[in-house]
Amino acid sequence: MHMPKRIAILGSTGSIGTQALEVVREQPDHFQVELLTCGSNAELLVQQALEFKPNAVVIGDAGKLDTVRDALFSHGIKVFAGAAALEQAVTMADIDLVLTALVGYAGLRPTLAAIEAGKSIALANKETLVVAGELVTKAAAAKGVNIYPVDSEHSAIFQCLAGEWHNPIERIILTASGGPFRGRTRDELAHVTRAQALAHPNWEMGAKITIDCASLMNKGLEAIEAKWLFNLRPDQIEIVVHPQSILHSIVQFEDGSMKAQMGLPDMKLPIQYAMAYPDRLKTAWPRFDFHKHPSLTFERPDLKTFHNLALALDALNTGGNAPCVLNAANEVAVELFLKDRIGFLEMSDLIESCLSRVPFVANPVLTDLEASDAEARRMAREHVPTAWNS
Ligand code: NAD
Ligand code: MG
Repeated sequence: MHMPKRIAILGSTGSIGTQALEVVREQPDHFQVELLTCGSNAELLVQQALEFKPNAVVIGDAGKLDTVRDALFSHGIKVFAGAAALEQAVTMADIDLVLTALVGYAGLRPTLAAIEAGKSIALANKETLVVAGELVTKAAAAKGVNIYPVDSEHSAIFQCLAGEWHNPIERIILTASGGPFRGRTRDELAHVTRAQALAHPNWEMGAKITIDCASLMNKGLEAIEAKWLFNLRPDQIEIVVHPQSILHSIVQFEDGSMKAQMGLPDMKLPIQYAMAYPDRLKTAWPRFDFHKHPSLTFERPDLKTFHNLALALDALNTGGNAPCVLNAANEVAVELFLKDRIGFLEMSDLIESCLSRVPFVANPVLTDLEASDAEARRMAREHVPTAWNS
């Protein structure tokens, strides 16, 4: 009899987090929840804790500590609050695997702490690798810790690489759905609304990544993520728009052969693959049917209209702290767009302006990245009054 894998889910109340818990619910012999954490959704965190009986929970918002503690105290579940507690909780002895499904830069420090404690990582939080890919992958190598990708494109590549570890990659091709604004002109994009940007054709996700998909920033972040996960040069990473989101990404080897991974767009598959690796667990999820999808199409991304993607690919090529600055400026830009404070195209203006002004650091250590992140956020927020008044 094998022991269930003991899992920590950071960001358990989000889109990836709740789908990971669905996987646990469907595979109770394989997984056991040790730790659940979220930002501020106390009600759902409590409900999840009562169902999955973790050893501990952490709520980011310290103002909600008492509410969560009152609800869980009599059930013997430990309750903590705040970012420092999160960093400590991921190191708990009983955790085998940490699923990083929280959003944004906030994922960096807990991921580093989990690696330092020797925990395997199932990585959904791509921002961690965008900000500090070199530090994180070096720390993981030094500790002998594996990072299993959850992002569907990277999971596809990882699945294609099974049994091919010794064969060099010639290039990878990341597929992009193109988002809700595929085919639009810049003029049309100037006036798109928050609601239009939040309506993704193929995937239901958290608000931040949904906006990143609409602006194609997500694909740029994924190119940077791929560089670090698979140790690639920027020129080995290509992007192709594939609106049906069936073919999840492609690896081309040095003999010219290409392997792709396909399936219906459902994040539960890459989540489960990362959690169960190297096993494939039986599921009853809907299967792909060619007769319902007779046409799979591919087109070039429009870098002129979707300037965010061009900025991200520049940052990938520049390296150093550029991806960190890009990420910080983008997090603020998305937040401002979601609050109707700036327009869709202004997100790129704001990011470009931060990239040109935050001093370049070629080989940043963690403190450099923290400083670059803070500086870029400050500059990005300063951008608002001008944009607001113009
Ligand atoms: P989401 O907004 O739905 O959920 C985010 C979770 O993180 C919530 O539980 C929230 O409470 C928690 N959180 C937010 N800020 C926090 C903070 N400062 N400290 C602690 N916890 C915090 O987001 P999501 O769509 O599930 O995405 C999570 C991550 O996975 C992102 O990095 C995203 O890019 C990546 N990802 C998501 C999808 C998807 O389909 N949703 C696909 C690929 C990659
Ligand atoms: Mg993806």
